[in-house]
Amino acid sequence: MRLKLDLHPIYSDSHAIEAALRQVIDEAVAKRVKEVEIIPGKGSGALKKSVIRFLQRPEIRSRYHRMEKDSENWGRLSLHFRHERAEPASAPKPGSAAPSLCAPCVCCGSPLQTPAPEGEADGEASVTCPACDSPHRLTFRRVRRGDFQVQAELDYGDA
Ligand SMILES: [Zn+2]
Repeated sequence: MRLKLDLHPIYSDSHAIEAALRQVIDEAVAKRVKEVEIIPGKGSGALKKSVIRFLQRPEIRSRYHRMEKDSENWGRLSLHFRHERAEPASAPKPGSAAPSLCAPCVCCGSPLQTPAPEGEADGEASVTCPACDSPHRLTFRRVRRGDFQVQAELDYGDA
């Protein structure tokens, strides 16, 4: 499914354009749409540039996966969305900023993950296995910057 936003009717109203862009991005996220096609209109290079500038604002940029500029057709822009399923057990994303601590679940072997602590070299974190719900205590020790040795133990607490 894809959405289309034609900016021709509102090309002279920058507030309306920003509102329309925000709205179509909201809709794409809500409906898990993969692609939004934005049509600023042929021959309107300045408009297209201001649309691109808007789409590159950090708070807008964080909402879509990538922008595609059609060089064959100067009038067209597409936003591609990637909708992630809520699966905390999935492998760490390549290039993700924060390193995470990861160890296999004692019960089922699913990866247990928790964000690496800032500053701390050693410590513990409580993590519930996303696959089997077993509570774990991850004990970690920093071996070098950004690299931790992690051990998982079952932790049903004292109660
Ligand atoms: Zn498990």
